[in-house]
Amino acid sequence: LGDDVRIDGLTVAYGATTALRDAHIDIAAGTTTALVGESGSGKSTLALAASRLLPPDARITAGSVHVGDTDLAALRGRPLREARGSLAAYLAQDASVALNPVVRVGTQIAEVHRVRHGAGRREAAALAVQNLADVGISDPARVARCYPHELSGGMRQRTVIAIALAFRPRLLIADEPTTALDVTVQADILALVGRLQQQCGLTVLWITHDMSVVAEIADHVAVMYGGRIVEQGDVLSLFEDARHPYTQALLRCFQEGRTARPKQILTTITGSPPTGGVPDGCPFHPRCPKADDNRCRTVLPEPRPFGADRQAACHHLELPS
Ligand code: SF4
Ligand code: MG
Repeated sequence: LGDDVRIDGLTVAYGATTALRDAHIDIAAGTTTALVGESGSGKSTLALAASRLLPPDARITAGSVHVGDTDLAALRGRPLREARGSLAAYLAQDASVALNPVVRVGTQIAEVHRVRHGAGRREAAALAVQNLADVGISDPARVARCYPHELSGGMRQRTVIAIALAFRPRLLIADEPTTALDVTVQADILALVGRLQQQCGLTVLWITHDMSVVAEIADHVAVMYGGRIVEQGDVLSLFEDARHPYTQALLRCFQEGRTARPKQILTTITGSPPTGGVPDGCPFHPRCPKADDNRCRTVLPEPRPFGADRQAACHHLELPS
């Protein structure tokens, strides 16, 4: 199912404000990349742009999102409508927005098989029950007849994953889909996505503010701040040896066991993330313990590669020689 994914130079503007600047991420087929950052860092913008679900007041102003050979960012009209869900499926934080409240969940999944794959009515209904079983629902035939409001939060999120699977996506983009759920249900959903990924080789981009989720599911991690990717690399190497001061601060919070709430990250790193407009120079300079007076305040640091697959955008990287 999965494909190599290459996000290259992706830039998104809301009116005159650049919410995402020059993002590059490569995701090998069948692997998971976590995109981590505080709210307002641009990670949801990247997720929505890569799924081609940006709101009408936002637009992609540069860059590409290749899933296999197809550039999602370049699609318009009917090819774009066909690509949504199939090339890239999006899991929202709030499962209820993805479900129609007045249609039984089995019917909603069956619709995907009918419209996207030309299945007949009975075949589509059977495939819908199968999808519900695939996401770990033990009585799928009964649940197929339920309306969304009759299900728990965790069951609704499983149902949304079942709909996403019905599209047979090449890339699954998940925007904090477990945040609204309690911790045990969260762990179940993470385990489920991991299992599905192994079974069907899905390529996954997982957006989160939670380093413990990153540690659990990611092969590769990209850290965002102020609308830019400030550091990325293999997850083990990055956790062991973070080079960007922002990543180092995030990891300190994680190691001290304070990742549960994004607000706690905010209070640990002095100051708050930029809102509406990024300062000149390095976007992190107002909060950075290593900031200097000239370069950090005036010159935007470009990402610099090092090691096997690492890169970081900081003027004061102390790189191993
Ligand atoms: Fe801190 Fe300067 Fe590096 Fe930005 S460029 S993260 S302000 S040291
Ligand atoms: Mg968000």
